Amino acid sequence: MSRFLVPSAARSWVEIDLDALRRNLAEVRSAAAPAGVLAVVKANAYGHGTEPIVQALTSGVDLFGVANLCEARKVRATGTDRPIMILSPCLPAERAAAAAGGFIVTVSSASEALAYAEFGPVQINFKIDTGMGRAGAWWQNAAAELQAVTRLRGLSIHSLSTHLPVSDEDVAFTEEQLRSFGELLEELRPLAPGARVHVLNSAGIFRFGSFQSDIVRAGLVLYGAAVLPDVQDRLSPVLTWKARVTLVHDLPAGASVSYGRTFVAEKPIRTALLGIGYADGFPRQASNRGAHVLVNSTRCPVIGRVTMDQIVVDVSGAGPVAPGDEAVIIGRQGNQEIAVHELAGAAGTIAWDIFTGIKDRVTRLYSTEPSLPPG
Ligand SMILES: *Cc1c(COP(=O)(O)O)cnc(C)c1O
Repeated sequence: MSRFLVPSAARSWVEIDLDALRRNLAEVRSAAAPAGVLAVVKANAYGHGTEPIVQALTSGVDLFGVANLCEARKVRATGTDRPIMILSPCLPAERAAAAAGGFIVTVSSASEALAYAEFGPVQINFKIDTGMGRAGAWWQNAAAELQAVTRLRGLSIHSLSTHLPVSDEDVAFTEEQLRSFGELLEELRPLAPGARVHVLNSAGIFRFGSFQSDIVRAGLVLYGAAVLPDVQDRLSPVLTWKARVTLVHDLPAGASVSYGRTFVAEKPIRTALLGIGYADGFPRQASNRGAHVLVNSTRCPVIGRVTMDQIVVDVSGAGPVAPGDEAVIIGRQGNQEIAVHELAGAAGTIAWDIFTGIKDRVTRLYSTEPSLPPG
């Protein structure tokens, strides 16, 4: 029995299981212990909807992480009392408001920290570049930069952090990165007594948990998608993405399907149109790349090009199908499952991109009633 009240007129929707979310948080907590957990809820909580996700997690996490000031305000507006860290650099024009909002800001240099000093008191996440090549003070200059930061008034150093570029791909590089960051911390910690250390992302938490830190930054795994395949059975997918059949068609051999006529039926086929397209976030790049959806608990190939509002699937092997029937884009139906990683693979991208690409046109439904419907 479905725990979701699905409008019969919904063309495409996601069902979000908040109990699964909390189970994943418990897994992360036990893998990370004794470190605390920063729940990464940037990009509309990885497409799952900021408000219900923050409200479901708030009692079990130590702080929240977002990408920018606008998202920080959205998280604050949920009513959570947890600290909120802005993980990317703020624009110069955002600094005063970020400080006034009481958000923890990420800075990469003493000069960037200085720009906050006039707005103090401000809590700072001092970031160090140990191999990501994105933000952060270059590790060889980190001690000097941090020392200069400590001399500025109005600022307190909440944390010292770095980011792992290949925690899911290159164990040797990551081990060396963690070893040298550990060494660097011996120099940095005395400069910022009381600062908390955080390094590990989703892949890092489960593979490099032996690295001692005070906080982990958990993103994708909270939403139930493992970064490392051997971790998947400890996690519960949070999101199921569905669409309805809008029309069923029989096509003769030789008929072509969709724009560009890239698919031609070799034999007579039965097709179903689904009310989902790239304007809903179904990736156009998955056209003719072996993507499947589930109809009647049967894997059905997506054929021809993905269009803005519709996709065509071959339901010849799926038994009776009628307009209004549910198809599963990501998730389970019967004993079949399409994992987010499968759709991402067909589109030549990653699970993060698929989740955050689910558009506003797709209704979000929650297993337990959030205080406000999102959007
Ligand atoms: C987005 C982000 C994370 C979360 O990454 P996952 O792989 O989804 O766990 C962690 N740290 C920083 C700095 C981030 O920007």
